Order: sequence, then structure tokens, then C-alpha cells
Amino acid sequence: MSRCQFVPPYLVERLQPPSLVARDRELRAAREAGPRPVPRSAVAQEAWVVHDCGNTANLPGRRVRASGEPAENDAAVDVAVDEAAYAVDAALALCQLFGRRSFDDRGAQVSVSVHYEQGYANAFWDGAQLVFGDGDGEVFGRFTGPVDVLGHEFAHALVERTTGFTYWGQPGALNESFADVFGACLKQRVLGQTVDEADWIVGEGLFLPGVGARGLRDMAAPGTAYDDPRLGRDPQVGHLRDYVDTSEDNGGVHYNSGIPNRAFHLVATAIGGSVWEGAGRIWWEALTTADLAAESDFAAFAAATIIAAGPHERAVATAWDQVGVTPMAGSADQPSHSAAGRDPAPSPIVFVRRTGGLAGMISEGSVNLETRDERVPELQALVERVDVAAVGERAPAPAPDRFVYDFDLCGASCQVGEQDLTQELRRIADLLLR
Ligand SMILES: [Zn+2]
Repeated sequence: MSRCQFVPPYLVERLQPPSLVARDRELRAAREAGPRPVPRSAVAQEAWVVHDCGNTANLPGRRVRASGEPAENDAAVDVAVDEAAYAVDAALALCQLFGRRSFDDRGAQVSVSVHYEQGYANAFWDGAQLVFGDGDGEVFGRFTGPVDVLGHEFAHALVERTTGFTYWGQPGALNESFADVFGACLKQRVLGQTVDEADWIVGEGLFLPGVGARGLRDMAAPGTAYDDPRLGRDPQVGHLRDYVDTSEDNGGVHYNSGIPNRAFHLVATAIGGSVWEGAGRIWWEALTTADLAAESDFAAFAAATIIAAGPHERAVATAWDQVGVTPMAGSADQPSHSAAGRDPAPSPIVFVRRTGGLAGMISEGSVNLETRDERVPELQALVERVDVAAVGERAPAPAPDRFVYDFDLCGASCQVGEQDLTQELRRIADLLLR
């Protein structure tokens, strides 16, 4: 199970948005307006555009650079813009190498936003664009720093427009794993590495110096990327017998992605050479041409990779066997979207647990309303204003790499995605995770 780690207060989200009211209005308006349209490429349209959110939550933000435009050449150059521009260019080139025109295969322009919110330690694809925070400056640096982080988010767009893997349970872990796979292919390609030279670390360089972490995830040895008093221990698993069955983190997508990640590493090193010509090509074929569905599970994906393996069929079959997955075409997971939910019982405790996010880490905090904690009066008022039943009735809408919050407000529990937080719930989380 996933009682993985406790992340102390200085790791948690510190942001107090300047205007919670304005933020809530924006979120509501965005929800009512539905998904923002993805721009279609005209003949002369730029392949990508990078925007600057100016440390607000306003998307996409100010347009700062597009493909074909030169980088600013002065001391005031924005490193995050440079990093994003470099990485999105490389991601599109890799996509093209695999024979696809952008993520939708119709040449969609890729919209990227940097400097999202303040101290935001995450990155995500929201269905319309790639979004990056600057990190909290204490544990996490800029999320534009490691090229594979952008590759990971770009791949969520690819998955959305191909198999459309549901972001929950096994298909969710396949969604996560393919994002890591594409990120690894991108990183090794820009570094000119063979599979034997590569470090197989996801997000290497994301942690600031002094943190006991080699990166977010280790595809070669899931569960060993970090072990630090401030972060806890890497909770990833690398074999089906250790599968984490949980309602957190969209059904453990960032924990269980270690299983297909390790299978990919085993195939890549068995084939050797450049990953994008070996295992990467096989995984790509499985995703884009195999008969996979949104609910396909590990067994179905394994079968698809074996079909796509050509002369490497034996290496692929052996790898899946080593992680405990028996390939079976057409098998489908039946994901359960129901939150575990705690038994409602009157209690003076207000509790929040935040999971998910690109890093897949856990933060939690609680306050007993019967104590003299300085947060009690505000929390008491907030809890009275939240209609937990109404929040809980809405089915969770999983979104790649967004945070997931589990609240227990004096015995009434609900689960809600970062993108669906009400003004009150956001404030409660800010108070408890401070
Ligand atoms: Zn992801």
C-alpha cells in the first residue's frame, strides 16, 4: 500500500495567491467555457509558442517567443523561456522522427507556459498546453530545467490523441510510463547517448543541491531515485506483485508506472544502441498503431509491444515476464474511480493529503479544531462553508500530473483535483500544508 512518506511543511505548496476570489472566478469561468481550443497549424504558423505567466495562474500568459524567432541575446534573457524553447523544439523533432506531425499528427501548434504561479513545484498538460512552475526554490528548482520533464508533459498530449489511456489505475500508469519513456528518448537523443551511457533517471537536475535525490524516478531501478529526510523514500514499484492499490494519486499512477518503466529499460538495454531506434520505436508503434483502448491494462499493452517488436520479440516478452506481467491481447482493466473515503464520524480534525503531481509525492497536514492553534478560527469558518457532499458528488476528473487532494473535514471526506478546488478548499489546503 502507499503509506509512503511524510513531507514536512517546508516541502509543501507555499503559495498564497494574491487574490483567491479572482482565482476562483477564473477557474469557474474556465470550467464553464469548456476546454480551450488547440490552435491548428496554418502553413506559416509557428510550430510552438512559449508564454510567460508572470508568476500568476493566468493561462497562457504573455507570448514571449515562437519557433523561428531568435533568443534574446542580452543579460536579461529568461532562462526558463530558453529551456522551454529548446526542449519543445527537440520534442517536436523527435515526434517527427517517429513520423508524426506534432502531438495530434495534424501539425497542432504546441503552446508552452512558464513561470506558472509562485513557488509552484509541478508541471502539467491541461489538454490545451504545457505548463511549468519555477519550483519552490528550496527542494525543487525550475521544472523547465530537465529536458525530459517537458518531454514527459508533451507525451501526455500524445497519449491523449492516440490511445487516450484513462488517467486512473493501470491505464493511468501506462499513460504515466509512456510519458517517462518519451522523456527518456528525448533526453538521450539530445545528449547523444546510447542506452548503456544513459542514467535512466527521470527529472535529473530538478532537485536543488543538497537534496538526497538523483531525480524523480529511476526507470532502471524503480523505488531508488531518492531517499531524503525532507522527501521520504521513492515509493515507485518495479514488479506487478508490488502493485499499489490506492485511490490516491489517481489510483497510484506515479507509483505503478515503475512496472512498465522497468520493462522498457530491460528491453532498451537488451536491444542496445540508441533508445529511439530500439525500444523507443517499439513502444511508439504500440501506442500509435496497436489496437489499444482507453482502458487497456498492462497485459494488453505488453501484448501490443510484442506485436510491434519484430525481431526483438523475445527480448520484449522476457522483459514483461521479469516485471510479472503476462501479455494478453484485449484484456482491460476495470478502473474504479471511487475514492476510498473515510468513514464519516464526528471529529474535531481537519485533514488534507495532497498526492499526484509530476513528482508523485505526498504532502499532508491536519489541525485539531479543539486546540489553540492560530489557524482554528479561520478553519472553523471555512469548514462550515464547504458542502462536502456536493463536492463529493462530482465525479473526479483526472488530469495528467495535476495534484489530487483528499480532505477530511471533521469526519466528512471528499477527493478533488487541483483544477476543481473551490476557493474554500484551496484556502484550507494552504492553511494545512503550510
Ligand atoms: Zn505525468
